[in-house]
Amino acid sequence: MNVIDTIFTLFHEKGSGAYFGEAVTETEHALQCAYLAKQSNATSDVIAAALLHDIGHLLHGLPEDIAERGIDGRHEVGGAAWLAQYFSPAVVDPVRLHVAAKRYLCAIEPGYHETLSEASKRSLQLQGGPMNAIEVRNFEEEPHFRAAVAVRRWDDAAKVAGLCVPGVESYRACLEEVLTRERV
Ligand code: FE
Repeated sequence: MNVIDTIFTLFHEKGSGAYFGEAVTETEHALQCAYLAKQSNATSDVIAAALLHDIGHLLHGLPEDIAERGIDGRHEVGGAAWLAQYFSPAVVDPVRLHVAAKRYLCAIEPGYHETLSEASKRSLQLQGGPMNAIEVRNFEEEPHFRAAVAVRRWDDAAKVAGLCVPGVESYRACLEEVLTRERV
């Protein structure tokens, strides 16, 4: 099975669980996030990142599951490590940084914290709370930090119960375009 089929199978077979404390499933959340990226005329890399930003939640049990190997349940780290086998940093980095981007926005944008859902406010505390000044500076040195912030904003908005958006298959061409390495 190629990696795109593996990803689609993950969404079909493992994405029907509720997205942490929200009114949508994991797959609905991913599809809404990718749809918002597309509506914003994001590049294919960034649309792919939006679709795949929470793939770390779905990876458990895969044969090449890096997410479960000694990484403390941080889904963005496990997800990014798995994706890095197949995709470039332009796709992988926004995934790796999307939690940091929440901590970043809480630090630099007045009022952002108030826009977060209750579940997202709760997880912020576990994730380290708002960034300090040094963390903000380091974050802004990441080459793909702006894409990570964009994915974060779509992530925050992609929680609308019952919203009808295109399905996973509609992203096949986009993923094929940004795929850098096939599965061996
Ligand atoms: Fe998310």
